[in-house]
Amino acid sequence: MKIAVLSGKGGTGKTLVSVNLAAAAGKASYLDCDVEEPNGHLFFKPEGIETRQVKVPVPRVDKELCDGCRKCVDCCTFNALAHTGKELMILDRICHSCGGCVLVCPQKALSEEYRVIGRVERGLWQDVEVHTGILNTGEAISTPILEDLMNQVRGLDGIVIIDAPPGSACNVMESIKEADYLLLVAEPSIFGLHNLEMVHELAQVFDKPFGVVLNKVTEQFNPSEQYCLDKKLRILAKIPFDFELGEISSNGGIAYNESPRFRLLFGDLLKEVLDEAAANS
Ligand code: SF4
Ligand code: SF4
Repeated sequence: MKIAVLSGKGGTGKTLVSVNLAAAAGKASYLDCDVEEPNGHLFFKPEGIETRQVKVPVPRVDKELCDGCRKCVDCCTFNALAHTGKELMILDRICHSCGGCVLVCPQKALSEEYRVIGRVERGLWQDVEVHTGILNTGEAISTPILEDLMNQVRGLDGIVIIDAPPGSACNVMESIKEADYLLLVAEPSIFGLHNLEMVHELAQVFDKPFGVVLNKVTEQFNPSEQYCLDKKLRILAKIPFDFELGEISSNGGIAYNESPRFRLLFGDLLKEVLDEAAANS
C-alpha cells in the first residue's frame, strides 16, 4: 500500500506525519521526495547508507563542426541555448535533457554528456527503509531525482510512505502518481485553507482516494476544518498544537516512539489510512 503525504506549502507538518506513520507501521519504506530540502532523515538517522548518484544528459558542442545556424536555439523551448554570434552557449541548469537540439543539428555538432544533479540515499532505521532524494544546491530541475525515487517505489512491497514535496507543481505530481492513497495535511489558518484547496484540487485531478489530517489544532476557529465539513472531506486525525510534540520534533525525535499520547494518535491514524485505502482499492 503506497500512501503519499502532501501539503500546499512547507512547514505544515507533512514530514511529521510521514515519519510517524512509517514508525507506526514498524516494517515500512519511507521516501523523502522533498528533494530540495529533505529532512526526514534527521528524525530517522538511518544507518548503513548507500548512495546512488543521479545524472542527466546535457548537450556539448563541437566548435569545429558548428556553423552557427541556430537551429538548436530555435528548437529549445526552455531557452537553455543561446548563440552569441561567435559561439553557442549552453545553460546546463535549465536544460531539461530532452535531446531535441542534438536531433535537429544539421552539422552533428552536438553530442550528450552526463552530469550529476543530486543523489538518492538508502539506509535503515529499525525495520524502516529510508530513501532520501537530494538535489544539489543551485540545481533547478528535480524531476530526474523524483523519477529515480518512483522507480524504487514500483519495486517496494508492504507499506510505503511517500513524503511529497510541498505545493502542487509538477514535482508533486511526479511523487504522487504511484500512490494508492493521498493524505492531505492542513494548518488552521486562511493561508492553510488556501493550501488545502490546492492539494484537494490535485487529488481530484489525479482521481485518487484521499483523507485530511488537520495539524496544529487549537480551540480557535479552524478554516481548514470548516472547508472539510463544507466539502464533506474525510478528516482522519486532528493533531493538537502541542508543546510536547514541538519539543520532541525540534530535538529530532519521533513522537510515535517517545510519547504514549502520540503513539496512540499516529497508530490510530495509520489504521484509519490503511482501512480507507483498502476500502477504496
Ligand atoms: S536537450 Fe532539450 S532542453 Fe536541453 S538544451 Fe537541448 S533542446 Fe534545450
Ligand atoms: S544547430 Fe548545430 S550547427 Fe547549428 S548552431 Fe546549433 S550546434 Fe551549431
